[in-house]
Amino acid sequence: MKRLRFIFSDQLSETILSLRNITKDDTIFLCEVSEEATQVKHHPKKLAFLFASMRHFAAELKTQGYHVHYVKITDHDNTGSLSGEIKRAVRELKVQKIILTEPSEYRLKVLVEKLQKSLEIPIEVLRDNRFFCSKDEFKKWAHGKKHFRMEYFYREMRKKYQILIEPDGTPTGGKWNYDKENRKSPTEELTTPGRKSHKKSAILKEVLKSVGEKFSDHFGNLEPFHYAVTRKQALIELHDFITRLLPYYGDYQDAMKKGEVYLYHSLLSTYLNVGLLLPLEICKLAEEAYKKNKAPLNATEGFIRQILGWREYIRGIYWLKMPEYAELNYFEAKTPLPHFYWDAKTKMTCIAEAVSHSRDHAYSHHIQRLMITGNFALISGLDVKQVQDWYLAVYSDAFEWVEMPNTLGMALFGDGGIVSSKPYAASSNYINKMSNFCDHCYYNPKEMTTEKACPFNALYWDFMIRNRDKLDKNQRLPFVYSTWDKFDEEKQKAIRNKAARSLLCMKNHEI
Ligand code: FAD
Repeated sequence: MKRLRFIFSDQLSETILSLRNITKDDTIFLCEVSEEATQVKHHPKKLAFLFASMRHFAAELKTQGYHVHYVKITDHDNTGSLSGEIKRAVRELKVQKIILTEPSEYRLKVLVEKLQKSLEIPIEVLRDNRFFCSKDEFKKWAHGKKHFRMEYFYREMRKKYQILIEPDGTPTGGKWNYDKENRKSPTEELTTPGRKSHKKSAILKEVLKSVGEKFSDHFGNLEPFHYAVTRKQALIELHDFITRLLPYYGDYQDAMKKGEVYLYHSLLSTYLNVGLLLPLEICKLAEEAYKKNKAPLNATEGFIRQILGWREYIRGIYWLKMPEYAELNYFEAKTPLPHFYWDAKTKMTCIAEAVSHSRDHAYSHHIQRLMITGNFALISGLDVKQVQDWYLAVYSDAFEWVEMPNTLGMALFGDGGIVSSKPYAASSNYINKMSNFCDHCYYNPKEMTTEKACPFNALYWDFMIRNRDKLDKNQRLPFVYSTWDKFDEEKQKAIRNKAARSLLCMKNHEI
C-alpha cells in the first residue's frame, strides 16, 4: 500500500512514530505554507530556522534512501495552506493512506479531524513519543486534584525516569528542589560567555533570501542568523552548554543584565520544540555531568526541573484544558498592547532591553519573559489575546501548546490559578534586585508617585487593588493587602492617580 508519511514542521526527529516501519513504497511529506507563517506574523529568524531545519531534515532522509516530497514556500503552485498541500499531495502521489504523528497544537488537531472527514483515504494518527508524559498519563495524574502543582508532578516524573534518584528512592542530595540557591543577583563582572556559531549551508542561505524577501514586514531582525539548523549542529550546542555553561546555570538563572541576552541559559528550547533534540537525552547528559562532578547539584536539578518538570507540566495543562483554556481572561484584561512591545521605544530600560533582545535574537530568557514583559502586561491589564499573539510571534521557540499556558497561565494569571498559585505581579523592587536595569533607567525604582517614579510601582498596587475581590482570598497574598490597608487614604489616592497617569502616558506614547 502506498502511504504518505506527513511530518509537521515541529516533528523533525527520526525517532518519531510516523517514520517507524517505513517502506520503499511510502513517501515522506513536508511542506512550508504561508498560512502557518502568517497565522501570527512570526519572527523572520523563527521562519528561517524552521524552513532551513525542515529542508535539512528532508535532505538527510533523502540521503538515507527514502522517498521525500517537499514543497517550498516559494514553489509557484504552493496552495498556501496545510490542508491544501496535503490534499494536493494525496491527489498527485496517488497515496492510499496518510500516517502522521498527533500535532502539537489544538487547532492542528481540528485540521486533521476535518481532513479525516473530507478525504476519501484513512489517516492514522500516532502518539507523539518524544515527551516524558503522555496526554493520558497527565490526565490520570490530574484526575481528582483540586490544584495541579508542578512540583508534585515533577517528583512523579523524577521517580518514573529515575533521574537524580538514589537507589533507596530518595532524591539525590536529600531535597527535591534547590531553587532557593538559584537566585543570585547579577554581579559587575557577569557577562554572557560566547556561543557556538555554525557555517551557513547553501540550504540556509537560500532560505534566508526567501524569508528576507517574503516576510520583511514581520517584526524582528533576520540577520545575523545564529541558530543551529541540523541535529548535528544542535548536538554541538547541547554538549557545549553542558560542559561550559551548566555549572553556572543555577546561580544566575533569574539574573538580568543590560546588554547581556543569554547569560547562562541553554538556548535549547527552539531545538527541543521542533525535535532536533530530545528531552531525555538532554536530562541524561545533565545528570551525567553532575555524577562526574562537572556540575553542581543546584544547577543540574534546576535545569532538569525545567525540562522534565515545567515543560511536561505545561504541555499536560494545555491538552487537559483546551479548547476552553484559550478563552479564559480572569481579570478581563482588555487594554491594547502598547507600541513599545513592537518598537522598544520606552524610557523603561527593562522593557526596552527585553523587547530589543526579542527583536534581535527571537529570544529573551525566562525571567525577562515573565517578570518584565509579562509582569508589565499583567499589572497594566493588557489584552490577554494580544499579549499571547505577541509571545507566539516573537520567540523562535513559540508554539501554542507551550506559549499559551506560560503566557495566559503563568505570566498573566488569566486562567485564574490553574498554572500558578498566585499572580507573578511585582514592583520595581524585584527588577532592581535581580538586574542592573534600574541603574540605567530614566525612572527611579525607589519612588512611587513622582513624575520620575518607576511606573511598575504604582501599577503593581493598582493591579492588586483593582482585582482585590478576585485575589484577597488567595492564601499567599494577605501580607500585600494588610500593607495596603496601612497606607493612609491620601497615599492610596496618590498611588492610584499615578497608575492612571502611567496608563494614559502609555496610550500617548509618553512612557
Ligand atoms: P533554559 O533556561 O536554558 O531552560 C532549559 C529548558 O527548559 C528550556 O530550553 C525549555 O525547553 C524548558 N523550560 C524552561 N522553562 C519552561 C517553561 N516555563 N515552560 C516550558 N518549558 C520550559 N518556552 C517555550 O519553549 N516556548 C514558548 O513559546 C514559551 N513562551 C513563554 C512565554 C512566557 C510569558 C514565559 C514566562 C515563558 C515562556 N516559555 C516558553 C518558557 C521559557 O521562558 C523558555 O522555555 C526559555 O526561556 C527558553 O530558553 P532556554 O532554552 O535558554 O531556557
